[in-house]
Amino acid sequence: MTDLSPDHHDGRATVSIADLIRDGFALPADAEDLSRVVDTFRMRITPAMRKAAQTAPAVARQFVPSTEELVESPEDMIDPIGDDRFSPVPGLTHRYPDRAILHITKTCDVYCRFCFRRETVGDSGHLSPEKLDAALKYVEATPSLWEIILTGGDPLVLSPRRLADVMERLAEIPHVEVVRLHTRVPVVAPHRITEALIKALDTRLTPWIVVHTNHADELTAEAEAALQRLSRAGIGLLSQSVLLKGVNDTTEALEALFRKLYRLRVKPYYLHHCDMAKGASHFRTTIAAGQTLIAALRGHLSGPCLPTYILDIPGGYGKSPIGPSHLFEGAKGEWTVADWQGGLHSYSDPSKGD
Ligand code: SF4
Repeated sequence: MTDLSPDHHDGRATVSIADLIRDGFALPADAEDLSRVVDTFRMRITPAMRKAAQTAPAVARQFVPSTEELVESPEDMIDPIGDDRFSPVPGLTHRYPDRAILHITKTCDVYCRFCFRRETVGDSGHLSPEKLDAALKYVEATPSLWEIILTGGDPLVLSPRRLADVMERLAEIPHVEVVRLHTRVPVVAPHRITEALIKALDTRLTPWIVVHTNHADELTAEAEAALQRLSRAGIGLLSQSVLLKGVNDTTEALEALFRKLYRLRVKPYYLHHCDMAKGASHFRTTIAAGQTLIAALRGHLSGPCLPTYILDIPGGYGKSPIGPSHLFEGAKGEWTVADWQGGLHSYSDPSKGD
């Protein structure tokens, strides 16, 4: 049985409001109000991000609490992406036929102020040995599961030894071929991308890492080096970002982020529309605003640099692309297609086409 009990909160000391005041942050409310915020939604910021936040407001806004989080908006949801609805056993979400999410931990190195799982992350450490056994049994008994997504929380907060154990147990299941790890660690705690951690990912399974990052200012020299260590080890790298008001909701911010990622061999994969997490309404843009940003970037950035703009449909119905449309249907087989500068062109399907 794998023991994933919380054992190493080392280097992840919880930051207090007093620490932030000492760091010189211009906090938006008095300490008492902010204590109410962090009593509701916990706070954790790594030294790397505390340092970056000193000079980068877009970094500070993601991690430093604000009394805006106490504002409840009617559309706020406790489980905005419906993890619980598709959970056949604790710790596992099976929404699509060929893949499932294994929530091996509820801990993260940072607690993002807009987190879509903020009601559960940080709760009770790692998945218990019994629950992990039950989740792996479910995977074993479900031959359609080809890919397992390790998320949480953040799977890279596990020690390399424990991560290796989970990877090896997954590798023993013949129909599982790919493991995808969703993480913020290479960016927020780059020193923990060690040889031992990279070795833990080296099994018969193909590993992909999806790095969560939202602004180019998070990608410090140390983060760049950590990403290089991963790509040199042959691990496929993708990114996912969240469109956040006041952080990256400009073409300049998104362009800088996507260019930097692409240069670092990280394919920008998803730009998420901000979920309806509780107390996060001040981060949400409209979908129209997101589409305008994507339309403005198209053509200015090369195709592989541009992620898909995605909505996780509230209630657990999965992800759908919601980028601006470039194709308009006319009479049967007749189309109008828009180019990247907005010019319109006719296109006819072949007359013998079905
Ligand atoms: S790293 Fe991900 S799971 Fe953890 S707090 Fe941030 S958004 Fe939530």
